[in-house]
This record gives sequence, C-alpha cells and structure tokens, in this order.
Amino acid sequence: MGIVVQKFGGSSVADAERLLKVCKHIIKEHNEGNNVAVVVSAQGKTTDKLISEEREITKNPNKREHDTLVSVGEQITISKLAMTLEELGYKAISLTGWQVPIVTTNEHGNAKIKYINNEKILDLFNKGYIVIIAGFQGVSEELDITTFGRGGSDTTAVAVAASLKADKCEIFTDVDGVFSSDPRIVKNVKKIDNICYDEMLELSSMGAKVLHNRCVEIGKKYNLPIIVKSTFEESSRGTIVDNNYMENITISGVTKDTNVARITVMGLENKIGRTYNVFKLLADNNINVDVIVQSFGENVNKNLSFSIKTSDLESAVKLLNDNIENIGAREIRYFDNLSKISIIGIGIANKTGVAADMFEALYENDINMHLISTSEIKISVLVDREESDRAVRAIHQKFFNN
Ligand code: ADP
Ligand code: ASP
Ligand code: MG
Repeated sequence: MGIVVQKFGGSSVADAERLLKVCKHIIKEHNEGNNVAVVVSAQGKTTDKLISEEREITKNPNKREHDTLVSVGEQITISKLAMTLEELGYKAISLTGWQVPIVTTNEHGNAKIKYINNEKILDLFNKGYIVIIAGFQGVSEELDITTFGRGGSDTTAVAVAASLKADKCEIFTDVDGVFSSDPRIVKNVKKIDNICYDEMLELSSMGAKVLHNRCVEIGKKYNLPIIVKSTFEESSRGTIVDNNYMENITISGVTKDTNVARITVMGLENKIGRTYNVFKLLADNNINVDVIVQSFGENVNKNLSFSIKTSDLESAVKLLNDNIENIGAREIRYFDNLSKISIIGIGIANKTGVAADMFEALYENDINMHLISTSEIKISVLVDREESDRAVRAIHQKFFNN
C-alpha cells in the first residue's frame, strides 16, 4: 500500500461545496488502495480575518497568544473535511498539529519543525482512516501551539510527506501549477512543467507565494518531488518540483515582493568597522537585511542604504536611532514604499545580457530602479511599490513574449 500526502489551500476549502470537490481527489487516491494523509489550510480568508480581529485589540500581540489565535482556522477545516468524508461513507479523522504531534522550536510565528511523530498517523492508517491534518501549526516542547508563518501549510504537507516517506506529495491550489509569473498580474504567463528545487526556492523566496519557500527546502533535503496542481481543473497536470530536467532554462520566472522597505544611514563616519557595527546591531536583534549599497569616496562620510522587510521597519528604525551615537551616524532615513522585482533562472550566470535586458524593460517603461542585487541564479531590483505590477509585466514581456 502506498502513502500519498495531499494538501489543499484556503481557496480550495473555502466552503462546503468546495470541500466536496476536495473529497473527490482524496477518494480517488484512497480507492486506488493508498493510505492518504491530507493537510489543509484555513478556509478562504479566515486567517486574514483572525489577524484583523487581533489588530482591533493590539498591534503588538503576545507571540504565544498570536499563534494560539491564528492557528484556529485550520482546526475548523480539518473537522469539516473529516465530517464531509464521513457523510460520503469514508472513515476519516482530524488531527491538529499537537495531536500528531508535529514538534517545533518555540519561535512563535516562524517555528521550525524539529520532528514529526508518525506513530499515530500510521496507526490510524492501519485502522483504515483517511487522516486529515491541520496545516501551518505545530507544538513546542513546552507544549505551546506554534505556527510556521503565512503560507505555512505547504510546509506541513511536505514535512509530513518526508516524515512518512510518502510516494507522492501533491499541493492542490487555485492555479494549475507554477507559472513564469503570477497569473493574477501578468496575462500571457507560461506554465512551467518541471522546475528544480533551487529555482523554485528562489521563486518562492522572492514572492511567488504559490509554494511556501520552506516546503521547497524540505523537498530538496529529502529529495521528495512536489507536485503543484489545480483543485478545480480536472485535467490539471500541474508542475513537478524535483531535480530532473534536461536543460537549464535561462529565466524561469518573474516575481514581486511588496514587503520591502529601505533604510538609509546618513553620514556614517568613514572609519573601519562602522558598517560592521550597523549590521551587527541589526543581526543581534534578529533583523534580516537584504540588498545593501554603500556610497564611497575618500575621507568623506558614507551613506549606507539597505532593504529590510516592511514588518521589521519600525523596530529597525527605533534600534538605529537609539544607537545613533554608538554607530557614528548623523541621521536615519527610511522609506516604506518599495517592491522587489526579481528574475530567477539557473541559466542567468552563464548568459550575457540578462541584466541589460531586464534594465531595458524598466527603462522603456520609465520605471526607476532604487537598489540592484544579483546572484548566480537571480537579479533583483527595488522599484516604487506603485510601479510593481507594471514592472513585472514589462520584464515578463521582455523575456517571455518577445
Ligand atoms: P493556497 O491558498 O492554495 O495555498 P496561495 O494563494 O498561497 O494558494 O498561492 C496560490 C497563488 O499564488 C495563486 O493564486 C497566484 O496568484 C499566486 N502566484 C504568485 N506567483 C505565482 C507563480 N509564479 N505561479 C503560480 N502562482 C503564483
Ligand atoms: N492559513 C495560513 C495562512 O493563511 C496558512 C496557509 O494558508 O498556508 O497563511
Ligand atoms: Mg499558500
């Protein structure tokens, strides 16, 4: 008997009618003789709603209580899906993260999975159950409920599949796989049939939210292919994320990440160690810095610009201002109006002119670039947030529709 893990996202489980559609996929695998573990997200916009209700109470919630609150959505879905399957005549049972248990670190809001105890799931398989598991949540060793960050149900699914050594891990969503850009922004997107882990990791990390980036890391680590496909299109073949493809494609996709702010440390003394002190201070306070640019010139003060997540902006600015004398700067300026647009592809390092083509697309559309960063596998630029969709379309047009 094989083991299959299927995951259904928020829009796939949004209401009773959609739950019935989801059951079709589950029952098909079950009837083929497989043990099926199903991971689900909260229904529709439930998690957003819980977060906005939280904001009515506080903008700075206790992290433990935050996780207890936002994990609720998935618990609703697991019970409803188990009931729907039972109504259809199948044995199904729901498990929350702590019931499995999926044991995690206690980093609330971004907890990492330490291990999953398979015993209960396997026992339930032996008893003939379809096992429905709440995505996005686990339990710390102190027995507190933890969550994995927005979009984290994908990570639950791939981790459960890796732990069970499943034969197949399918991520069902509202689009027919991974595309060359977000189909909601760009019209002529191209479906990617096969993509390697490294490229998918960059696409997800740079804003393609179709897969949570951490699930791709787990897939890579355990060499587990991940299939992304549509819940609603019957003939969906989707995208396979694995390490098998014949040729490197130059550009696999264009992404946008709107969660980007910029800080400029003005008038930093031109002394050895000053830049280090700024980044050490941020690192010691768990603030991740992304693109960095430093002005240069002899014997003059420097300006140091870098991008960080919008969600870290307030605390980073406060931290730098509180330490402005120690770091030897004149002023801290900040801007919360940026997006990061990236092109991703394994082939970038071996092909000339990719950056030039990307910048030309922006130039032709009169879009200004603030910061640029490159790596073997991607080129990212920061643009004004209000220009981000236009920038994605222009770059996509240049590489995919010319
Ligand atoms: P789910 O609720 O099923 O987890 P998500 O909303 O998290 O679904 O992810 C699916 C969405 O990801 C799609 O509706 C699409 O708008 C968006 N998306 C962004 N970039 C891409 C891409 N490159 N390919 C496919 N979908 C993408
Ligand atoms: N419900 C969670 C969220 O909205 C997790 C997920 O959907 O993957 O972020
Ligand atoms: Mg998702």
